[in-house]
Amino acid sequence: MFGLNLENHFAKLGDGFFTQQSAEKVAVRPQLLHANASAASLIDLDPAIFADPRFAAAMAGNIPLEGFAPLATVYSGHQFGVWAGQLGDGRALLIGQVRNARGELWDIQLKGAGRTPYSRSADGRAVLRSSIREYLCGEAMHALGIPTSRALSLVATGETVMREAPEPGAVIARLAPSHVRFGHFEHFHYAGKAEMVRALLDHVIAAHFPGLSDAEFFGEVVRRTAVMVAQWQAVGFAHGVMNTDNMSILGLTLDYGPFGFMDGYDPHFICNHTDSQGRYSVINQPGVAHWNLRALAAALSRVVPAEALVAGLNNFEHYFATQYRLLLRAKLGLVREDEGDDALIGALLAAMAQGRADYTLTFRELSRASDAWLDRFGPARSAAESWLAQWRDRTRDEDLSGLDRVNPKYVLRNWVAETVIRAAEDHGDLAPLGRVFRLLQNPYDEHADDEAFAAPPPPELCGLEVSCSS
Ligand code: AMP
Ligand code: MG
Repeated sequence: MFGLNLENHFAKLGDGFFTQQSAEKVAVRPQLLHANASAASLIDLDPAIFADPRFAAAMAGNIPLEGFAPLATVYSGHQFGVWAGQLGDGRALLIGQVRNARGELWDIQLKGAGRTPYSRSADGRAVLRSSIREYLCGEAMHALGIPTSRALSLVATGETVMREAPEPGAVIARLAPSHVRFGHFEHFHYAGKAEMVRALLDHVIAAHFPGLSDAEFFGEVVRRTAVMVAQWQAVGFAHGVMNTDNMSILGLTLDYGPFGFMDGYDPHFICNHTDSQGRYSVINQPGVAHWNLRALAAALSRVVPAEALVAGLNNFEHYFATQYRLLLRAKLGLVREDEGDDALIGALLAAMAQGRADYTLTFRELSRASDAWLDRFGPARSAAESWLAQWRDRTRDEDLSGLDRVNPKYVLRNWVAETVIRAAEDHGDLAPLGRVFRLLQNPYDEHADDEAFAAPPPPELCGLEVSCSS
């Protein structure tokens, strides 16, 4: 259907890994709010299909993709450090697996497609607000070069979903080579089913890490996770809910909930209002990633030798530190190695933290720094001034012409997401969605007409709170 080359390889795992079922239909005619031509190309889908009402119907779950039996997979996880047992897929449904012309595998997963046997007491639905956020952020992260699931489509269901208040419902279709999480392995390990851990591991390695031994596979998951989190840190992204069920076995950024890009730099930034202890604050993300990898290692401990798991875990810090340093050096235009470089990087971050300087714009404007740049540092202005002189001295012989290709101008600030959401919810106005989507796809470019979206939050949109409710 739609010319998709469908292949149901997850189902080959057999009983116990999933439940085959259809999506719960939505009563009203679903409306396609946005579709992503760039993501469509990953599955060889012709964007002309977007205009076909059957596309909106399929992406709302109202009609299945012919040739594929949809399924919900089962996984568990640790939430906020505590074993939570079975968690999902409570509202996600695998509606297709595509092998594209390049031989790559892509899952098409609907999020918000209704109840599954794993929904617990919840409704299986998603609200428009959080669906818009996930839709935009997948694209933003991808354009920043950060591994992530991609959003293919955003559909309004026309139905109301009950949260703290009634809200409009939506379904997104998202794409990833696999949506398998650390929590899938934990599920079978803590159920005492080592043979199912083994079967899942064989499946994941064969499909996504061909040729790797168990030890090499685990080492690679550690490396990818460390690199991904270093990339988050470098762009000032807080995931918000780094529970093991939200950790991708492929090292992809997955499950956009109460995430946030920092405005003013604060290493202790907590984006999730529900996270009162700050377990998932920005500064804690690398340590939590390591904690989660330990949880994965525990889940593999009956089928992979302990020495291999320990060796893998021990590489985390090296992978993280190397990648983070590389990215921060690039942001400052430091190519030649100089022994004072780490201190120089540290001093900038310290001044930014002291003055809550805008994370994105401080780097973006560095090579053109003027009084306005210094003003961003507030009480740390004089520290910033002497730092700037040092940096200019240090980079006299460096080529700084490429800095705008390294330091983005546009990230998905909360206030920008909120502006898009309010326009869509209050006025049915989808123009801001389309405009912000395009900006985020080209975050390093200047967009003279949409300059306002690069700015820190206006006073009335400061300190917006986002929570797990979605
Ligand atoms: P999260 O912390 O948002 O990743 O949620 C944890 C799990 O709860 C998810 O994997 C879902 O399976 C499930 N879940 C969250 N919201 C809902 C919902 N509205 N209906 C059914 N399941 C949900
Ligand atoms: Mg989740």
